[in-house]
Amino acid sequence: MTCQAVQELILEDLDGRLNEEQRIKLRSHLTQCSMCQSFWEVQRDLDAALVANCVAPEVSSTFRPKLAQKIRSEKKQALEEWLPDILHLGSGIVATTACVLWLSVAPALVLTVGIALTFVSYALQTMFRFWLEDLEGL
Ligand SMILES: [Zn+2]
Repeated sequence: MTCQAVQELILEDLDGRLNEEQRIKLRSHLTQCSMCQSFWEVQRDLDAALVANCVAPEVSSTFRPKLAQKIRSEKKQALEEWLPDILHLGSGIVATTACVLWLSVAPALVLTVGIALTFVSYALQTMFRFWLEDLEGL
């Protein structure tokens, strides 16, 4: 285990997020590495000073539900922003697969239809994106 990985574990340990196996590996490394031992002592002292001197602010009873709602809203918004790109990629994969299958049958037709579908799908994606942006504005 590298010292950098151990120092990540130290930070997780101070947050109480290590399982027993990770804690054993951490303790084993700390007994052999003075640099990580020093890092652990600094972090432990800093953590203790923060706990002793910082008081968590009071939050209203509606804070957590509002925060959860905001997180859900942002996830939904992120999906809506990616949806046109996902649809465009999916339709591109379908169109490419169809072109590969039909290429040996009618190459000129495949090329013409491929170019046409590219422009049509790009136009549809752009219109879909504008439609989603209009929904966001409502
Ligand atoms: Zn180390």
